Amino acid sequence: MYPDEFDYHEAETVEDAIELLDEHAMEETELLAGGHSLLPAMKTGLSSPDVLIDIGDVDELHGVTVDGDTLSIGAMSRYSDVLGSEDAHEHAPALTAAVEQVGDRQVRNRGTVGGNLAHADPASDLPGAALVSDATLVVQGPDGERTIPAAEFYYGMYATDLGPAEILTRIEVPSAVDAVGTYAKKPSPSSGYAMVGVAALVRVDDGTVTSARIGANGAMDHGVRLEPVEDALTGETLDEETIATAASHATDDLETALLMDDLQASGDFRAQLLEVYTERALEKAVDQMSTPAAAD
Ligand SMILES: Cc1cc2nc3c(=O)[nH]c(=O)nc-3n(C[C@H](O)[C@H](O)[C@H](O)COP(=O)(O)OP(=O)(O)OC[C@H]3O[C@@H](n4cnc5c(N)ncnc54)[C@H](O)[C@@H]3O)c2cc1C
Repeated sequence: MYPDEFDYHEAETVEDAIELLDEHAMEETELLAGGHSLLPAMKTGLSSPDVLIDIGDVDELHGVTVDGDTLSIGAMSRYSDVLGSEDAHEHAPALTAAVEQVGDRQVRNRGTVGGNLAHADPASDLPGAALVSDATLVVQGPDGERTIPAAEFYYGMYATDLGPAEILTRIEVPSAVDAVGTYAKKPSPSSGYAMVGVAALVRVDDGTVTSARIGANGAMDHGVRLEPVEDALTGETLDEETIATAASHATDDLETALLMDDLQASGDFRAQLLEVYTERALEKAVDQMSTPAAAD
């Protein structure tokens, strides 16, 4: 299918993009980042914007940098930029582990971290990892810049705290160099998106879990933390029994009637997947801790 006709603008700066969004406030307007969610939606008629604002050439939105204890990922950074950054692997291990499992190489070469988070697809791989990484989303609009913790960014399916003339400019992640980060995903057999994906960020000192942050996407209409699992891990040894017990609490805090229920998987099946993939994410953490690289 071909998309409906639309006007196309190229923004050169963030201010430029915000002005264009503001100027076209009365029309249906979309930012074009990697285009890997937007263009399929336009081609299938699910989205018919009147105006597209291309932010691909806005230099300030690109790049992965470290400033003190904070890793900053420009919203237009492609997944491949993140994977090519040693800093990202070192400081944001859970987020990087999730990025590794997004789509295929082609998708990772075009899709952007900002587009993924802003699009708020419940089956995306990054929201759970953003939550466990305690990421902050930095947005800019006509009234200036503001920051939104990942935990307050999502309202539901494709719904975020972003205002109509606001742009996500970067994602800030507090350094987790002292933690192990993993992501375990059950991909949809047809699309590869997450039927369920679980991210884990775990700190262990002298054999005891000192902190654990576990988050999931694909299960509910937006990413969620699995705090009962975290509580069951903290203060314990990360062994098989602890992991199995902790994973059995995966749905404790979730309203199970609201689990995603679609042609791919029922809510009941997703509840089971959530336990299994929580276990797998934690088993990966144990594996990483026992590798010589992690011990160095
Ligand atoms: C074949 C295929 C397989 C895929 N598999 C996966 C997968 O396994 N896991 C996964 O997570 N994703 C998957 N995706 C989706 C992919 O990761 C997209 O790249 C991502 O969801 C959106 O990022 P984008 O840069 O392409 O955004 P676009 O498609 O350009 O934009 C998406 C939406 O976000 C908005 N937006 C974009 N950037 C910003 C910004 N900076 N500020 C505010 N709003 C913004 C746009 O207005 C638009 O509404 C797949 C896509 C394809 C085509």
